[in-house]
Amino acid sequence: MVLLLRGNAMVKFIFVTGGVLSSVGKGIATSSIGKMLQTRGFKVTVIKIDPYVNVDAGTMNPYIHGEVYVTDDGGETDLDLGGYERFLNINLPKENNITTGQIYQAVIGKERKGDFLGRCVQIVPHITDEIKHRIRLVAKQSEVDVVLTECGGTVGDIEGLPFLEAIRQMRLEEGFENTLYVHIALVPILDVTGEMKTKPLQHSVNELRRIGIQPDTIVARSRKMIDSEALRKIALFGTIPETAVFCSYNVPSIYQVPLILDEQGMGKYICKRLDLPERKPDWSGWKQFVDSLLNPRFEVKIALIGKYAGLVDSYVSMNEALRHGGVACQSQVLIEYFEAEIFERNPSKLELLKKYDGIFVPYGFGPRGTEGKIKAIRFARENSVPFLGICYGFQMAVAEFARNVCGLEQANSTEVNPDTPNPVIDLMPEQKGVKHKGATMRLGAHKIVVKKGTLAHKLYGAEEIYERHRHRWEVNPDYLDILRKHGLVFSGKSPDGRRMEILELPDKFFFFASQFHGEFKSRPGSPDPEYYGFIKACLDKKLGKSKLDF
Ligand code: GLN
Repeated sequence: MVLLLRGNAMVKFIFVTGGVLSSVGKGIATSSIGKMLQTRGFKVTVIKIDPYVNVDAGTMNPYIHGEVYVTDDGGETDLDLGGYERFLNINLPKENNITTGQIYQAVIGKERKGDFLGRCVQIVPHITDEIKHRIRLVAKQSEVDVVLTECGGTVGDIEGLPFLEAIRQMRLEEGFENTLYVHIALVPILDVTGEMKTKPLQHSVNELRRIGIQPDTIVARSRKMIDSEALRKIALFGTIPETAVFCSYNVPSIYQVPLILDEQGMGKYICKRLDLPERKPDWSGWKQFVDSLLNPRFEVKIALIGKYAGLVDSYVSMNEALRHGGVACQSQVLIEYFEAEIFERNPSKLELLKKYDGIFVPYGFGPRGTEGKIKAIRFARENSVPFLGICYGFQMAVAEFARNVCGLEQANSTEVNPDTPNPVIDLMPEQKGVKHKGATMRLGAHKIVVKKGTLAHKLYGAEEIYERHRHRWEVNPDYLDILRKHGLVFSGKSPDGRRMEILELPDKFFFFASQFHGEFKSRPGSPDPEYYGFIKACLDKKLGKSKLDF
């Protein structure tokens, strides 16, 4: 047995698996369990297992897989890590996202070194040992009371099997009272009869048992609170007491999920089952945030002009950061997603933007849609509509300003047009020889020096900040003079003064953009400053104020 201790107490392990289909809110349920423990004073961390063969999420298309989340230490991770960080207000290291690619890379590396000399290297025990080793390493390094591990995908997927086998073994090695299996599965409700069908869930529990895992608690994911008949069946066929069955039903905000699960007794049940001391949870701060979120006084409408507008998950951290900003301004934030290309095909569509209180241009890669983004930014600047640009949005704002204010008509990023006569955005010098795509961008938290007396300084209230990055291109220093001469202010820079990090136009109501991604550090109750500033500006302008009122 490899018992892990924190102080005199055992570290507890909670494993969350999913059944029936993916995208049922396993990540939110996992974060919610963490929250229930955290409000009881336990220190927690969360691991996400992604059974795909990619080493990290960085090489995946956000249009299919959703956004790539960036951690402080520069990990390009699954978006669920963002959910954990937001719910639990913690910063996670990249080691908290484990993939099949990482596991195999490590095991094959050891094999080549000769670590297993003479032996046949196999999935059990070598791959499963590596998985357990990584979970325990996180437990050790994070010094927590409870480690939650969410297994991505659905029980029964071929690529998930080694991970399930590893967590099965962990029960044997860590002990019954130190491990808990949570299974979450969809309970569909038939449209015609309104009947709650538990059969798919029963099948996924059976699938889990076939692998050797008997869940300790089951969360039924359903449109409505499950009725007593469904609950009884889930308990009976799941071989667990009825008091171990919970329901995550649809609620207006994801931030309500921990509250509804705790009301059903889930927090108490988990603590008892894991032999954790019983403590009363303190939900006061969380409830206050949720109350403000659900009872806004104002409404702010944002037009998001992006490249992945068809998939809301592509912008999940941005959406959340805008909402966090909204709560701080007692405002509901309505976001409408526009494919940037529509403004290229049909510039008269720009008129649609008149209906919005703010224009937001998010991150992006490649040429598609960039001309549409530039048109939308021009519309914002010329009509003094509050504007926030993030990363590619920042770069496109520079190109727009160079073209339409400085008169450099073909100004562009070399990412879009490598032959532009005015490369106002260019590849960072250290990126020029980079051939490999995996984890080679400028990533993670870097220091930024904020210029005194600027809007940025007002928003951040500091002269030094750390923000997370993910990019290869940057403002070309050759164009700084002309941009500045025409009124563009770079109010945030890298400490050596070479990289432009924040821009603003002081004569506009709110025209602000950053090379970094403020959304990754935004939390419920403490919104990121640039997102907060943007929403506040949208509201102030809507309320007819003539000047920003911070
Ligand atoms: N494609 C741009 C770059 O690599 C912007 C990246 C982003 O928006 N995250 O610099």
